[in-house]
Amino acid sequence: MKTIKGKVALHPLFFLLTFTAFVTGHFLFFISVLLIIIIHELGHVAVARLFEWKIEKVELWLFGATMVSDDFFFRPWHEKVLVTIAGPLQHLWIGMLIPHLGLGGAWEETLLFYNTWLAVFNLLPIWPLDGGKLMWILLSSLLSFWTSFRTVLLGTGVVMVLFLICFPFFFTIALFFVFLGKEIYEQWKHQYYLHVRFLFYCLKRETAKEKWMDIPPDTKVKEGLKKLRLGRGMVFKSGSEVIREKECIRSYFDHPTLRFLDLHNR
Ligand SMILES: [Zn+2]
Repeated sequence: MKTIKGKVALHPLFFLLTFTAFVTGHFLFFISVLLIIIIHELGHVAVARLFEWKIEKVELWLFGATMVSDDFFFRPWHEKVLVTIAGPLQHLWIGMLIPHLGLGGAWEETLLFYNTWLAVFNLLPIWPLDGGKLMWILLSSLLSFWTSFRTVLLGTGVVMVLFLICFPFFFTIALFFVFLGKEIYEQWKHQYYLHVRFLFYCLKRETAKEKWMDIPPDTKVKEGLKKLRLGRGMVFKSGSEVIREKECIRSYFDHPTLRFLDLHNR
């Protein structure tokens, strides 16, 4: 991706669509849609800055720009929800504003259509679009961090396939999904790295709420760590022993192959 001042990344698809719009004489319309997408993204950025999130960059993909921030995974759920819905909410006032701009005729109608379409498309449960992020926020409150992220990535694959089966002639969407599929594959490959970051987060966190879980003593500690959750500190009951998550994480970092029974009587 090309980046502007290291903060705005332009996807190759962006250049392709710019070129197509220029050649087909839809450049002005293209700029209008781009403006809507930028306003959508500024909605995310404004609320993220309000909560003092560190923003790495904004990626412009068209059909779905996305703000990249490491803080997304580890901030309180209400911050994550507000930052995520701040984008789609912009389409409400944009939709009310367009009829008053005096554009008239086909341009106004098409712009209104795209504004609605962008809001709806971004809310599809596809990672890393807003709908996918909301889906992950919901799942991460019900499942472990490890399982929730994998479920969202797998779910994204299923939704993309279903979408292509239902709308096989949507060429630009198919093209977008090819690029998105590559991103999902990269994220899948890097899920261990994300999980290690989550484990470091768990080492530092102070959680008032605890979740207890029985675990067979011959289970590998590595497998136990895949059951850790956001928002709740995990306490494992392994046989007659009680082992807290921080002890598991430290032991795992020292000896990745340990089993729970190795932590008994330590
Ligand atoms: Zn968004």
